[in-house]
Amino acid sequence: MSLAQGRPYLAIPGPSTMPDRVLAAMHRPAPNIYEGALIEMTASLFPDLKRLAGTRQHVAIYIANGHGAWEAANANMFSRGDKALVLATGRFGIGWAESARAVGVNVELVDFGLKTPVDPARVEDALRADVNHEIRAVLMTHVDTASSVKNDVTAVRAVLDALGHPALLAVDCIASLGCDAFHMDDWGVDVMVAASQKGIMVPPGLGFVWFSDKALEQSRSADLATPYWNWTPRAFAKEYYQNFNGTAPTHHLFGLRESLTMILDEEGLEHVWARHATLARSVWAAFDAWGQGADIALNIANPAQRGHSVTAARIGDGGAQRLRSWCEREAGVTLGIGLGMALPSAPEYGSFLRVAHMGHVNAHMTFGVISVMEAGMRALGIPHGAGALDAAAAVIAGR
Ligand SMILES: *Cc1c(COP(=O)(O)O)cnc(C)c1O
Repeated sequence: MSLAQGRPYLAIPGPSTMPDRVLAAMHRPAPNIYEGALIEMTASLFPDLKRLAGTRQHVAIYIANGHGAWEAANANMFSRGDKALVLATGRFGIGWAESARAVGVNVELVDFGLKTPVDPARVEDALRADVNHEIRAVLMTHVDTASSVKNDVTAVRAVLDALGHPALLAVDCIASLGCDAFHMDDWGVDVMVAASQKGIMVPPGLGFVWFSDKALEQSRSADLATPYWNWTPRAFAKEYYQNFNGTAPTHHLFGLRESLTMILDEEGLEHVWARHATLARSVWAAFDAWGQGADIALNIANPAQRGHSVTAARIGDGGAQRLRSWCEREAGVTLGIGLGMALPSAPEYGSFLRVAHMGHVNAHMTFGVISVMEAGMRALGIPHGAGALDAAAAVIAGR
């Protein structure tokens, strides 16, 4: 007998769980796109998106997913043949590199593997070697959703500053914005990309690019920017349609309005970050207990190097895949696949999974996921250490 009936829970790292209030805000007839409520509401989104990113500079909204946001950023930073330094710590760093390469950017990729963050010493070597300052931008991922590693953005900024290197610093916060602390201006970030369906708790469909005055200046000569991707009319629109280079994503915008109000004005961004941190620690505590004497381990050994929105882990001998399907079929919880940790054709592929704890999630949801995983390990006979639920509860209890 399956116990999956009831409200299902998608615990994958995007799309994340959406508040009913966001969905309700979207449930309305098509609005007038020439005057009235939509136009006034949209104007309020820009300052709030800047608050979310910690910037007083600029933001453009696109009808796009995260891949579109990458492409938007690339189009405005680069001309064909320009050089980029990409720092990869998992599948998504590689993805941004591929996206840049495909449009003619000359990409130098420094790959830090799947288990460790960006090493500033290697970044320094790569930038020192660029004696003529040909590198126009350094691209990095804040939290790579595949490995769940969190990178120290300020350390990369410090390397650029110490060398006096003029490259832009561009950061993918698609998995971390609204989950992990991020301060665009204080951290000296020039370009930052995000998408609606993760920490922002809105259905997939909106991509965002924040950019600094310095990046704006560089974009004036970037010849990859086509009319659709050009961020300037979007960020400095004189007419409403310019914000979106055409029809606005009307319903997504109403959903976004609701989610920004919830994050910024009701819960408060600092609290949102603290909630994600605690829920993440409860998941890590459970894995640490399961891993005692068993082939179960978190992907990132050092807690300070783990993102707070998603946890990548190994459950050996294909246990991860068996557990994922048990949790969905028997308990209504969908866990994330192990992305980019092994090829889907490799025997090891089934030994990786990810647990998301991003967006509109609270203690009972995350604790429920951990409990269901524990039940699944028992049902499937997957060897695991004892005490995971105690350990998770202790974190939630604040001990
Ligand atoms: C999800 C994600 C992407 C890709 O976003 P899509 O909306 O799937 O295109 C890129 N980078 C990171 C870090 C992500 O988490």
